[in-house]
Amino acid sequence: MRVAIAGAGLAGLSCAKYLIDAGHTPIVLERRDVLGGKVAAWKDSDGDWYETGLHIFFGAYPNILQLFKELDIEDRLQWKEHTMIFNQPNAPGTYSRFDFPDIPAPLNGIVAILRNNDMLTWPEKIRFGIGLLPAMIQGQKYVEEMDKYSWREWLKKQNIPPRVEKEVFIAMSKALNFINPEEISSTVLLTALNRFLQEKNGSKMAFLDGSPTERLCQPLVDYITERGGEVRLNAPLKEILLNPDGTVKGFLLRGLNSAADEVFTADLYVSAIPVDPLKVLLPQPWQQMEFFQKLEGLAGVPVINLHLWFDRKLTQIDHLLFSRSPLLSVYADMSNTCREYANPDRSMLELVLAPAKDWIAKSDEEIVAATIAELEKLFPDHFGGDNPAKLLKYHVVKTPRSVYKATPGCQQYRPSQKTPIANFYLAGDFTMQRYLASMEGAVLSGKLTAQAIVDAPPVANALNLQTLTRPPATNAATA
Ligand SMILES: Cc1cc2nc3c(=O)[nH]c(=O)nc-3n(C[C@H](O)[C@H](O)[C@H](O)COP(=O)(O)OP(=O)(O)OC[C@H]3O[C@@H](n4cnc5c(N)ncnc54)[C@H](O)[C@@H]3O)c2cc1C
Repeated sequence: MRVAIAGAGLAGLSCAKYLIDAGHTPIVLERRDVLGGKVAAWKDSDGDWYETGLHIFFGAYPNILQLFKELDIEDRLQWKEHTMIFNQPNAPGTYSRFDFPDIPAPLNGIVAILRNNDMLTWPEKIRFGIGLLPAMIQGQKYVEEMDKYSWREWLKKQNIPPRVEKEVFIAMSKALNFINPEEISSTVLLTALNRFLQEKNGSKMAFLDGSPTERLCQPLVDYITERGGEVRLNAPLKEILLNPDGTVKGFLLRGLNSAADEVFTADLYVSAIPVDPLKVLLPQPWQQMEFFQKLEGLAGVPVINLHLWFDRKLTQIDHLLFSRSPLLSVYADMSNTCREYANPDRSMLELVLAPAKDWIAKSDEEIVAATIAELEKLFPDHFGGDNPAKLLKYHVVKTPRSVYKATPGCQQYRPSQKTPIANFYLAGDFTMQRYLASMEGAVLSGKLTAQAIVDAPPVANALNLQTLTRPPATNAATA
């Protein structure tokens, strides 16, 4: 069956990959001239890469890890030491670590927390441990129920001292959804903590060895096209055309560079575009349906990704760092962490600026100046004195609407991959799956969409289910 998929982010490409495995012919139609959506990257005139986001892969990402295996590109993940490293605002230029020993979960996580005495006192650690018990004992059901509380409200409800939020969880909230603890749903934090505490390597982190566009999306495209599928760039979905019964008749693609619009037809249709453009494209008759009306409860959150090239090394740390700065979220010296960006003499810091709502409309120059002011605090040795570090060049990538903003109550608005329209499916990190808005969530959503298509009654018997029924054994355990 020919399946048209709008959007070549990880969700659309993963959906196409698993449809190929099930014997279908997917055609991916991407609006832009670059693959990857929120993992897209570009090369500048010096040959240096810059990216939409600083991306970290976790041990607790079973579907992504399986995908790397299936594409035979596992060696592209550069796994780092099992630790979490935080800057210490009260002692500029120093770091505090949560080191996970090589023992089974949850003991390794508990030891990591107990051994860190820089950030939390013993009474705070004990209070936090007790507070977490219901999530650990009752699992995902409890985690989902807590969606009615913000993380700050949940901490208060569990009698966890406010200092715990300030010391650890402002940084984690910003890293997970680019917003602060008073805004983020506690389901997001509890989901991450549960994964990290229940799986031995859940919080172990890996960097890709180059740009996600070339090193992850391209192998997906090769896999799809070598087996009869297609991926078309510069093919923006302009309108979803309907039959009289409300099912999809075709995708109208906008003609670029004064070319005429094109009607693209297939047997089935998938939207793997983010929730914000999807809301705009919903055909009028669908807007009255409760399933689609719920999408109004979801909206993308702004975020900014910066790349700063310096004339010297600022750090030798080969890992992700939680800045604990009010302006910044996580950052990394990519000249240490990523093979293709390696440079023994000069640092390239990739930094996430969040929350970004007050910054998204500002000029790149203002954003860079404010970031450098923060870096002067994080790296006082390099920015003071007679010979401060020089900024050689920068790139700023703004995403005004990135992943959906996971505020309390949002879980109920996340749609299933199967829709009430018989020949129309959804994929994307915002659709319902347990990995929230992440690369893992996007890949899993694409896989679930492919599975839903395979499972659809009139179609199922005609398909070669062999390949797709193998991976879901893992999927079923994790989804
Ligand atoms: C700064 C930043 C840092 C992040 N860090 C991490 C991290 O460390 N770890 C992690 O797991 N996740 C991280 N994420 C989240 C992760 O990138 C996303 O969850 C994931 O990539 C989303 O994939 P998707 O396919 O659902 O959506 P998208 O990547 O948004 O893909 C949607 C695609 O649809 C296309 N499209 C839109 N409109 C149309 C149209 N009309 N016609 C055709 N195509 C269209 C878009 O161009 C895009 O290519 C980060 C995100 C950002 C922005």
